[in-house]
Amino acid sequence: MIEALLKGYDLEKLAVAAIASHTALQILRAAKRYGFRTIAVARPSAAWFYKRFPFVDEVWEVDFSNFRPVAERLAEENAVLIPHGSYVEYVGWRQALEAPVPTFGVRRLIEVEADQFKKMDLLRRAGIPIPKSYKPEEVDGPVIVKLFGAKGGRGYFFAKNREELLEKLKDVEEPHIIQEYIFGVPAYYHFFASPMYGRVELFGMDVRYETNVDGRTFGLVEPTFVVVANFPLVLRESLLPTVQKYGEAFADAVREMLGEEMKGPYSLESIIKDDLSIVVFEFSGRIVAGTNVYMGVGSPYSVLYFDRPMDMGERIAHELKLARDKGRLEDVVS
Ligand code: AMP
Repeated sequence: MIEALLKGYDLEKLAVAAIASHTALQILRAAKRYGFRTIAVARPSAAWFYKRFPFVDEVWEVDFSNFRPVAERLAEENAVLIPHGSYVEYVGWRQALEAPVPTFGVRRLIEVEADQFKKMDLLRRAGIPIPKSYKPEEVDGPVIVKLFGAKGGRGYFFAKNREELLEKLKDVEEPHIIQEYIFGVPAYYHFFASPMYGRVELFGMDVRYETNVDGRTFGLVEPTFVVVANFPLVLRESLLPTVQKYGEAFADAVREMLGEEMKGPYSLESIIKDDLSIVVFEFSGRIVAGTNVYMGVGSPYSVLYFDRPMDMGERIAHELKLARDKGRLEDVVS
């Protein structure tokens, strides 16, 4: 479907589109700098904000509950859609999977991500260390319980031990996963898989600022992890080879599991323990909001690849431009 759509594209008029939220400013600002026409697809309530910025050529106000006509219109406008977390949140993973518009990266990862078991299975296949998963009766220490479809840490809860877990599970009917709780510090790595350069780049990293774990709660409320902001991060250099190894292993596992080359931005989300081992509890198969910390200034790691600072929006635009110029757009979209 997508290859046929691309055949009809006027490459001189290639546009970059993003849903107006999440990382849209970063993506569209960079796309404009690289000479693409830019489209922000907005909820009516957010449209006015995106109209404030001169690098956004068009702001469309749309109804996300019926996304197909929007996708068709994007394709008519020669657009490549850059997917991000809010896109999947607004349109749902089924619509995102079927939308008839070329979508940057590996679209089928959206489906894998929607299922906690498939998601952990992909990481396991990559040989990346992950938290143990338990049946309730196997639990012997602290656990975190994640309801499917939980967002930004909402819909998670903890139990100190098996007794507390069984008590708390009485009220839970939704599908969920019970995971070993890992002690340490969180670190989120940003990667870019480049078909044009044939490599996986470790592009940046961040940590999150989350309500009731980082807030002034004085032990008065249960911990919650609702993300409100992000901070930049650099890691001890001695840890970088391990992070790079896991990033590459992830790309290999995508090839093995989906039969498709990994392409575009993605993230591994980890806890680093006090023995300095890294346990990955989550991935995002598309750009993560933590990349915004480098908007316009570039991440310290980006200079290692291009000898100049670049943010992830620019990295995407750079790849897209190369792919277009080489007649290889189908290698970077799906
Ligand atoms: P998520 O919404 O999946 O990014 O998770 C929200 C937060 O829960 C993360 O920022 C982590 O700090 C924490 N978390 C998730 N899974 C685990 C785990 N298995 N062990 C320890 N912390 C976790």
